[in-house]
Amino acid sequence: MSSIRTVGFIGLGNMGVPMAANLAKAGYEVIAFDLDAGRAQGFALDHSARATDDLAELGKSADAVITMLPTGREVREVLLKTQNGALATHLKPGACVIDMSSADPVGTRALGQDLAARQIMLVDAPVSGGVPRARDGSLAIMIGGDPQAIATVKPLLSKMGQKLFEVGGLGCGHAMKALNNFLAATSFAASAEAVAVGRKFGLDPAVMIDVINVSTGRSFASENLIKQHVLSGAFGTGFTLGLLAKDAGIAADLANQIGMTAPVGQLIRDMWADARDAVGGDQDHTRAATHWQQRALRPTAE
Ligand code: NAD
Repeated sequence: MSSIRTVGFIGLGNMGVPMAANLAKAGYEVIAFDLDAGRAQGFALDHSARATDDLAELGKSADAVITMLPTGREVREVLLKTQNGALATHLKPGACVIDMSSADPVGTRALGQDLAARQIMLVDAPVSGGVPRARDGSLAIMIGGDPQAIATVKPLLSKMGQKLFEVGGLGCGHAMKALNNFLAATSFAASAEAVAVGRKFGLDPAVMIDVINVSTGRSFASENLIKQHVLSGAFGTGFTLGLLAKDAGIAADLANQIGMTAPVGQLIRDMWADARDAVGGDQDHTRAATHWQQRALRPTAE
């Protein structure tokens, strides 16, 4: 059972807009806030919702707040450090914050302690499925937190996702998401490399993908990205290079933070960071394939 009616939604970007739209469609009163005020206003106009540029007003009105921001840094900034007062100081005791961004799990646990001291619950609920599944409300959602807090927010989450997994205590959702995206980043990099090598040898990249997709090398990247976004030149997944490089970094850092070595994780983090620095963090993540291919073909100096 949930008493949540009014939801403050912070971060109306590629994912935030369709997710908040599904909440508005389901009858929740949505108050939108974005650093780029035009985005929140545009959303409000299109979805009979309300936009605000005042986090204090949002905090006083909302039963729950959803953050869908680039990284955990912005989430902590909004809740604890904005100029016109931290949002957390304006929330009602008992209110719930749901961080649906892909954030660092260790930072999430620390934030949870800060919020608990103000009687505010934190649940981490990052998502997978990209913009298309955000639109049709069928995201996979990985939920971490106190079971009672999770029970309170589940009805809300079920309006944005179809596959809801309770994966453990606070931070476990973010850890699960980072490790999933580490795998996505790895299979994309490996698929792109296989196609580049095959092409140079004389194979047709499109035929390669057809073969891989009915063979043991198939992956989300081979089935949904290489032909559709790299070979076609569309580069239009709606998921930026900066964000995937960030996720690969979170996964590699997590291993270090808990005293493990993760050699594949380090290599993948470095490859994505290199592509982000060379191509630009705001470019579609599938453009990394072109960068790596050009780099691989470049004759070595000396
Ligand atoms: P985005 O860059 O499109 O949107 C982020 C929004 O946050 C922007 O509108 C920006 O103006 C706003 N913002 C930034 N800093 C802010 C601040 N301090 N206060 C208020 N607003 C601020 O990003 P996105 O693609 O929507 O991704 C959001 C999160 O979801 C990221 O953590 C990303 O890794 C994750 N994610 C993205 C996808 C995808 O396919 N795009 C899929 C799954 C998960």
